[in-house]
Amino acid sequence: MNHPINHTAATLLITGGTVVSGDPTTGTVTVTDVLVRDGAIAEIGPGLAAPGADVIDASGMLVLPGLVDSHKHTWQSAVRHRCTGMDLMTYFGEMFGRLGPRYRPEDVYIGNLLGALAALDAGTTTIMDWSHVQNSPDHADAAIRGLREAGVRAVFGHGWPLVDLPEWIMNSGRDHTGDLRRIRHELLSDDDALVTLALAGRGPELSTMDVTRNDLAMARDLGIRTSIHMGCGEAFGAMAAISRLNDAGLLGPDLTFVHCSENSDDELRMMADHGVSASVAPQHEQGFPGIGHTPIDRLRGLGVTTGLSSDTEAFGAADLFTQMKVALAATRSRVNTGGSRFEDPPSAFSAADAFHLATQGAADTLGLGDRVGGLTPGKAADIVLIRATDLNLYPVTDPVAAVVNAAHPGNVDTVVVGGVVRKRGGVLLGVDQDRLRDLAERSRRHVLAP
Ligand SMILES: [Zn+2]
Repeated sequence: MNHPINHTAATLLITGGTVVSGDPTTGTVTVTDVLVRDGAIAEIGPGLAAPGADVIDASGMLVLPGLVDSHKHTWQSAVRHRCTGMDLMTYFGEMFGRLGPRYRPEDVYIGNLLGALAALDAGTTTIMDWSHVQNSPDHADAAIRGLREAGVRAVFGHGWPLVDLPEWIMNSGRDHTGDLRRIRHELLSDDDALVTLALAGRGPELSTMDVTRNDLAMARDLGIRTSIHMGCGEAFGAMAAISRLNDAGLLGPDLTFVHCSENSDDELRMMADHGVSASVAPQHEQGFPGIGHTPIDRLRGLGVTTGLSSDTEAFGAADLFTQMKVALAATRSRVNTGGSRFEDPPSAFSAADAFHLATQGAADTLGLGDRVGGLTPGKAADIVLIRATDLNLYPVTDPVAAVVNAAHPGNVDTVVVGGVVRKRGGVLLGVDQDRLRDLAERSRRHVLAP
């Protein structure tokens, strides 16, 4: 069934919920209202009135800021769990060497549409789409089309092609494609739009320092941020890429490094010193042989701004509830076994800390921290309602712990992005599930053909 969607941001009054704002000044407030006007949060407080507003009864619900995913290879969403039994190097060979060149623009479109809708369905309202499948300009156009059609807030991270792959990733001497300039000028020039642009860069682990310098200069000239994978496994960690960027004077607050699991404490300190943020995916770091232990405790100990991410559905889950649970378990496990250098129980990493990494922390890594990541008047109305009356959640003693330790995408009742209701009563609006399933299955068959 295809429920219609009203694409204009109406005045919304969300009444009587428990607001878990993520905003330190507001905190968690029981039985209160949230007023949304013109796509933004206008007011939070009890007994608000707004004649003519679309009223959403949130009694028995937890009202959260939309979750923020700081790194997601959305294009891989139609080959779900293909790589679950692989180690890191086998995944690279399979996904980038063998399957990546097969991706047509329509495969990127359906991957992005499916992955972005699965994110929305699970209460993730912002994703950083890390799209290293830019086999042609048509692939970029298709990726952006998928994101826009889904209605998610997204940063489209433009990466490199997977055709002629060795030329792009083995100490590559090729600069990032000039298609980035076309996309910036013709498709994603508005930094206030729902979909914005970043560079998904290769950095010193995959290209020469000259290329890295040129790529970062292009991104900075275009006024966009850059995200780079770092220290993903021992071999990459040994390349000391962050030290080399530091020596070259290239580190800055417009950079986000992904994983960083095998980078030294000294290198993480360089990140903190220069305002470089980090994106981690603990389900993948803990579950994918070869990446290395999730560095959340080290990043936190050194003061690096950090966000959670769902990385790829070729291995793991689409949602951030899973990532919050693994973040908490993996980080506490290292504390509990004496392996952490920076934390002492019982003050170590809490459920609230995990929630922060999936909201404000992740928003900060995308340069969107003043717009999303918390329920604060003036911020965009990206809001998620969780049914706390569901069997797995009631009675609620600690709302944040309930969200982090027990909630799952099935508890997500309502999702609002920029004041537009995308999911209501547990149903994603405006989505033809039959068409989506058919497109995804056809793409999967094409990409995975023997
Ligand atoms: Zn990644």
